[in-house]
Amino acid sequence: MRLHDALDATVSARPLFAEASKSGAKLSADDVKSINRWTRDNIEADRLVSFPVLAIDTAPTRNGIVYSAESQKASVKAWVGKTFLFNSSGGADHTLAAASQVGRIYRSQLVTTAQGETGTLVWVYSVRGVSQQTDEFIGKIESGILREVSLHVMVEGVNCSICNVAAQDCEKAHQPGQKYGKQTCSLITQGPLEPLEVSAVAVPGSTSARVMSDDDATKLVALREALAPAGVDQLNSRPRNETSIERPPTVFESARDQRLRLSSPRRPRFHGRF
Ligand SMILES: [Zn+2]
Repeated sequence: MRLHDALDATVSARPLFAEASKSGAKLSADDVKSINRWTRDNIEADRLVSFPVLAIDTAPTRNGIVYSAESQKASVKAWVGKTFLFNSSGGADHTLAAASQVGRIYRSQLVTTAQGETGTLVWVYSVRGVSQQTDEFIGKIESGILREVSLHVMVEGVNCSICNVAAQDCEKAHQPGQKYGKQTCSLITQGPLEPLEVSAVAVPGSTSARVMSDDDATKLVALREALAPAGVDQLNSRPRNETSIERPPTVFESARDQRLRLSSPRRPRFHGRF
């Protein structure tokens, strides 16, 4: 087991409840205020459930995508207000339907993970007693049955990590996740991400993205603060390690295909659901 996996396995899903979490933490007045920005009526604090989610980090996903620190930094605030989806009806994960909406992101922050990756940490709230579906969702989050998550964003472009050119201009048809000599090809996001949603999924592309315990999320934030002295932006200071990816993906062609479908000539855009 790799260190990364070992660390991941130690994290249990413990949502932060308004009255008191397992660890004794309570939802702060600021959190309640932030959540109530999105409600039409003030919701009683004891009905609110909040849990932190690491939406993504800079480690290559199983699909060979690297969500660059620059892209995450440029879009971290755009996550606030975006929806959290759980398709309880048995259809595919990431089904874009209002019936899947069970929570909303009310806070977001850039963090550094224990592995030294830059990550986007978001806090999601849901409300007890809204429907049987949301109560079931909360129960599944609380019990750790739902833990894996996957983001869905639009991005203006992705670069081939080996050629360091836009993916559509890579003439050697490199495949993300494939090794070429000592290098493993990744597609690296360029420009800001446009967040669309975060979904509970069975098998996420990112090995890091997950529902976190409140205590572990606090540690992430603390680590970020420890690594980044005031006024110093260390986002780009960490050298990338090449990571081998066992499952060769087909994202490269699909990125090209989607560019044709989704792009305008001036602003090619890619869908990413990883
Ligand atoms: Zn290439």
